[in-house]
Amino acid sequence: MPNLPFGDINIVVLTDLHSWLGGHSRQEPHYDADLGDVLSFWENLKDHCDAYGDDDDDDEPQNQHRDIFFVNNGDFIHGTGLSQMGMGNDYDDGSQRPLGNRYKILHGKNCKLLTFGFLYNMKDYAPNSGIVIEDVEKVVAQEWFVNALVEEHYDAILVLAHMDLVDPLVHVIKSAIRSNIGQGMPVVFITGHTHYRGVKQLEDTTMTFEAGRYMDTVGFVSFPKKESVRSENSTSLFSHAFLDANKQVLFQDTLGFSRSEDGETKNGKELSKFIDQTREKLGLKKEIGCAPQSYFFERPVDAEGSLWGLYRDEVIPKIFFKSRQTMEAIEEEATNEEDDLPMAMLLSKDAWRYDLFNNATLIADDIIAVAPFNDTVVHLGTFPSKVIAKANRTLNQYSNGDDLTWLPTLPKFILIGSLDESDANTKYHLYCHDFEAIHVQKILRRLAPKEHVVIKKTEFRSTMIWMAFVEEYWKCDGSCESDGRGYKRSKHF
Ligand SMILES: [Zn+2]
Repeated sequence: MPNLPFGDINIVVLTDLHSWLGGHSRQEPHYDADLGDVLSFWENLKDHCDAYGDDDDDDEPQNQHRDIFFVNNGDFIHGTGLSQMGMGNDYDDGSQRPLGNRYKILHGKNCKLLTFGFLYNMKDYAPNSGIVIEDVEKVVAQEWFVNALVEEHYDAILVLAHMDLVDPLVHVIKSAIRSNIGQGMPVVFITGHTHYRGVKQLEDTTMTFEAGRYMDTVGFVSFPKKESVRSENSTSLFSHAFLDANKQVLFQDTLGFSRSEDGETKNGKELSKFIDQTREKLGLKKEIGCAPQSYFFERPVDAEGSLWGLYRDEVIPKIFFKSRQTMEAIEEEATNEEDDLPMAMLLSKDAWRYDLFNNATLIADDIIAVAPFNDTVVHLGTFPSKVIAKANRTLNQYSNGDDLTWLPTLPKFILIGSLDESDANTKYHLYCHDFEAIHVQKILRRLAPKEHVVIKKTEFRSTMIWMAFVEEYWKCDGSCESDGRGYKRSKHF
């Protein structure tokens, strides 16, 4: 019997995988399960639930099945080199038809589950991606939503919401559901997007749940069918578990196998093998260097071991600022005097996504985990240092209405390059990533209406800059030694 708090309806949840399908085992040995292991785990649980109530076991109530479903709740790409979904308010621009089904009835052996999918009111999605996001407030007032709630037959409601577990929009959806069907019907929100583990009982029969990120967590929730809700206080019928994506936790502690290998299914093993072969084929496992220490993405820029400090103080000066002469865009545009101007960059805190560990030699995929977007670096023009400093301050005050609250220790934009404080009129070449270029350009035009602000692509891309730095400055050669666990660690550089 698996060690989980089962209920009438049970759901295994992955969210915000961001392509971490191969797991983390190389740099973070505790998170050693890959997606194949999660598939094995799921298949074992499904077998258990399918068989439950079927046989003559006296411990199990007769004719009472357990239904189990699997949910992957969005943000599948952008995280590792493996990067290469449908929801209710997510539309294709041309046809105005929903990208996914607006709702779906999932049929279990013992229940019907009415399922909706919602995205947060995204204000910063790519404007020409051909996708229109409808406001959640409008969607829940539409006829199809009300009809689904009132006319369909079901035993509980599942809302897949790619937003924080207590996002105000969760309450908008919950209120819309309750105003149409009243109390009593169990409602569970499976949320995501803000990348942490969390759970909250919003009402007696409403729970909201978020299961981590980057495949560090296999989430589990269980809840009752409506007919099992007999009293006012039914919160005890809602339960959950956060399982570390660790083979021992999944197979031994939870499923009860004496050895993890015994829990691996044929499909699970095949999927693990396929993921590994694909990473090999894409060159993601190529060893490219050895980090002298670990660098953390949540550390403030000036803190010891800050990934941002490393980028500002070493990576950009050594790789990007040094190689200006090769940039054709500037050679064409700049006058001779401007050729010699110093350089500065405004880097958004959305640029990097992960820590850089030194628990093993660095492979290409470790760098892609840090810098998954491979943004193009663009040249914006030349500006006096006082304008650049002011633009940086303005950018850091500006709110674009998005709900991302992570990395509170970092400013929205980090200034790279040392501005000359003695002369506010010294000019600099200014750069940023193409992703924020239009936003930065607007601010510059406002602050310095007389300057020429033109976005020009350079030949540099963010992931390549990191790769070049590691390959050139963090060579493993003789300065690496084994730390006794079979890993190589760089002693000095
Ligand atoms: Zn995400």
